[in-house]
Amino acid sequence: MLPNFSDVVVIGAGPSGSVVSALLKAQGHQVLVLEKSTFPRFSIGESLLPQSMQFLEQANMLEAVQTAGFQFKDGAAFVYGEQYGQFNFEDKFSPGWGTTYQVERGSFDKVLADSAEQQGVDIRYQYEVTEMEPGEKVKLTVKDPDGQAQKIETNFVLDASGFGRVLPRLLDLEAPSDFPVRQSVFTHIEDNITDPNFDRNKILITVHPEYRNVWFWLIPLSEKKSSFGVVAEESFFENYSGDLSEVLKDIKDSTVPLSSLLRDAEFLFPPRKITGYSCDVKSLYGEGYALLGNAGEFLDPVFSSGVTIAVKSASLAAGVLHRQLKGDQVSWQTEYAEPLKQGVDTFRCFVEAWYDCRLQDIIFAENPNPEIKRMICSVLAGYAWDSDNPYVSECKRRINVLASLCRKT
Ligand code: FAD
Repeated sequence: MLPNFSDVVVIGAGPSGSVVSALLKAQGHQVLVLEKSTFPRFSIGESLLPQSMQFLEQANMLEAVQTAGFQFKDGAAFVYGEQYGQFNFEDKFSPGWGTTYQVERGSFDKVLADSAEQQGVDIRYQYEVTEMEPGEKVKLTVKDPDGQAQKIETNFVLDASGFGRVLPRLLDLEAPSDFPVRQSVFTHIEDNITDPNFDRNKILITVHPEYRNVWFWLIPLSEKKSSFGVVAEESFFENYSGDLSEVLKDIKDSTVPLSSLLRDAEFLFPPRKITGYSCDVKSLYGEGYALLGNAGEFLDPVFSSGVTIAVKSASLAAGVLHRQLKGDQVSWQTEYAEPLKQGVDTFRCFVEAWYDCRLQDIIFAENPNPEIKRMICSVLAGYAWDSDNPYVSECKRRINVLASLCRKT
């Protein structure tokens, strides 16, 4: 049975929900998390960025993550035919964490949620938020594990429902994304990689030999297991019969270097697909609510920014809401939406430059300037809010100039 009232209600126990609830609890607030599924549950988004570690540390979850046995990650590698580019995150320009993990999200999200519970957060699984009535006290309708509707009132709702996008749907906040509709097809594999030069501590991004806006990820998750997926506009998949296994098998067998790396790989479950995941909203906050992580905006998976943005939003929102609940005047616009947008816009600049190939030309350039490489590396490591980095403060102009220089050489 749900209580009639909770000071704060968080919708969803993914990374943003667990982190924000732990941060608010630590500041003395009563927080109830409503999660519609049971954990562990599958989720996509397995390669973390070092910047996210700062927010896990802030939420007192670091030890739980570090002792869970996840695959260590220290960088990202890119390949396009014979061309290769590699970034070691420890070489980045910005101060802060230089390493992180590649994680099965079922386990990772459970580690974070369990840690929040151990810190005193009340999490109710199999409780799905179905309706919201805004007002001085927000009223929520919740479907309980028996399928019965229950009501709860709260001072503030944090929507951390990810692609569930509960409040954007209920409050008509959805806005179209600037990006074309892309689709991803993915599975986990027993990779059977024997190549001694393959670096399991890095995500490997491979560009399609013919279509440079199509790319594949290979994310080692443990000694033998990897996540393998493709991202492309929907039209690319029309080259195939509709059998998702055929898509991934063809890519695996015909693309350098995957054809040799994954020669003996076996799919661990039938490939799944997700389409049209890029999304935006008209506003990230309103009377009695704010949107976190993917419930707000999602750009694109190429630079693995999703979880980092989710936990950064959790950290910012917890700070603003704490002050609001103790009676301070706060501005969700200048203290939450604008600071969050700064980093999201840096990633947007990188994502746009990836798909129109400016960033690919930079990444694959021979003999890059080491100082500039450190600045690019910083953004790839998630430090998209560090305005001391010229590739953050003047992203578009810097990328344009650098790409044209790389194209001349
Ligand atoms: P989520 O992790 O989605 O959690 C939301 C939770 O809310 C879920 O547990 C859900 O069950 C619950 N919920 C939903 N609706 C309701 C409801 N009505 N009531 C109660 N609970 C509800 N990110 C990375 O960082 N690295 C990557 O490598 C990466 N790869 C990606 C690849 C693809 C193809 C895609 C599409 C995304 C990728 N992402 C990646 C993004 C990543 O998946 C998300 O950004 C991240 O999971 C967002 O976290 P979140 O906390 O906002 O939401």
